[in-house]
Amino acid sequence: MTANTAHVIVGAGLGGAKAAQALREQGFQGPLVLIGEEREHPYERPPLSKGYLLGKDPREKAFVHPRQWYADHDVDLRLGATASALDPGAHRLTLSDGSRVDYAKLLLTTGASPRPLQVPGADLDGVLYLRTLADSDRLKTVFRSGARITVVGAGWIGLETAAAARAAGAEVVVLESAELPLLRVLGPEAAQVFADLHRDHGVDLRLGVQVDSITGESGTVTGVLLADGTRIESDAVVVGIGVAPNTGLAGAAGLSVDNGVVTDERLRTSAPDIYAAGDVASARHPLLGRHIRVEHWANALNQPQTAARAMLGQDVVYDRLPYFFSDQYDLGMEYTGYVEPGGYDRVVFRGDTAAREFIAFWLAGDRVLAGMNVNVWDVVEPVQALIRSGAAVDPARLADPQVALESLIPG
Ligand SMILES: Cc1cc2nc3c(=O)[nH]c(=O)nc-3n(C[C@H](O)[C@H](O)[C@H](O)COP(=O)(O)OP(=O)(O)OC[C@H]3O[C@@H](n4cnc5c(N)ncnc54)[C@H](O)[C@@H]3O)c2cc1C
Repeated sequence: MTANTAHVIVGAGLGGAKAAQALREQGFQGPLVLIGEEREHPYERPPLSKGYLLGKDPREKAFVHPRQWYADHDVDLRLGATASALDPGAHRLTLSDGSRVDYAKLLLTTGASPRPLQVPGADLDGVLYLRTLADSDRLKTVFRSGARITVVGAGWIGLETAAAARAAGAEVVVLESAELPLLRVLGPEAAQVFADLHRDHGVDLRLGVQVDSITGESGTVTGVLLADGTRIESDAVVVGIGVAPNTGLAGAAGLSVDNGVVTDERLRTSAPDIYAAGDVASARHPLLGRHIRVEHWANALNQPQTAARAMLGQDVVYDRLPYFFSDQYDLGMEYTGYVEPGGYDRVVFRGDTAAREFIAFWLAGDRVLAGMNVNVWDVVEPVQALIRSGAAVDPARLADPQVALESLIPG
């Protein structure tokens, strides 16, 4: 009997498709299987709340590779197939149709799923989420001029969704339990910018509120009832209260799971020959000296390339700084670095916050931990170099747009 050489990837989103590409680019010529629960070919999710949802970009633009790419690269793409059990000892996966797939090396790119709203009425028709192409298609049908849309949660997804609904001419209410949108990620100083942005675009932003229940008639949503007794009439309710990593398969197989599938900086899990990357992975970050799980596009794009190389025995670690972007109305932003909620001493702004054209820097002492450029472009590289350097910076110079960022980086 010949030894099994198959490299198998579970999860056919951006991470899975990029891992397959990287394995082939790195010269892997053996059997390569990509297993995906969804029936769509692997696609990217950012357009689902932006260009595609807004009707500006065609559906095809969201796909990671053209359909033919998989056959051309001899990737055995199994769509509509769920990996339901994993036996790390036997190096074997069982799919939900009962079939088995044996692997030499396995990569988990199972991503994340929206956290469900757990209040009475949350199962009514018209209570919607946004993760898949089908979800985005459904939102397109309800985002119409004059429609009353209530968004629960003022995180990135909630806010982008609110912007898309406004662009379609809907009346939009956004409900958030915290005192500001994006408060946990940005802190109060920069979060205020997003509160102002949405109010300036006609969103009825209600902060510090609790959803008591969703009201309905004949199985269909009619509104939202807040804990203070306020009723908000709604034609649809969009829930964006965060995602949870899809760790079920790994957890049941005994892999170490702690807010994601735990990996080392080489993206190896606690089980031999099993790796994890993308939204599902809680990876040790060598620069930050701790495990982080990043739920963003750039991580799902880049981490699988490191995982693929590690699977092929190369000596690699994943040490990129977290990076993400968002577009809302006429505001485009990029954020890079890492700050735990409340884990900074001050925020330094460079530029004009009122005009929404600035860079914000989060500092611990006099070191930069993270930066966010808003409608200012081509600065991610120097911002990342500043963070990586760990150098002490003079806040006055950091705040001064006349001082080149490059001049603040030692060496
Ligand atoms: C609407 C939307 C907008 C976004 N916009 C931005 C943005 O502007 N900027 C940004 O940085 N990030 C953005 N993101 C986040 C980004 O899209 C994610 O970080 C990225 O999709 C993660 O890719 P992934 O491959 O790790 O996981 P996923 O994209 O979640 O893919 C995982 C796949 O695995 C499948 N799967 C799970 N379990 C199994 C199983 N047992 N068997 C088989 N298949 C399985 C799932 O069905 C899914 O198709 C956005 C996300 C959404 C939803």
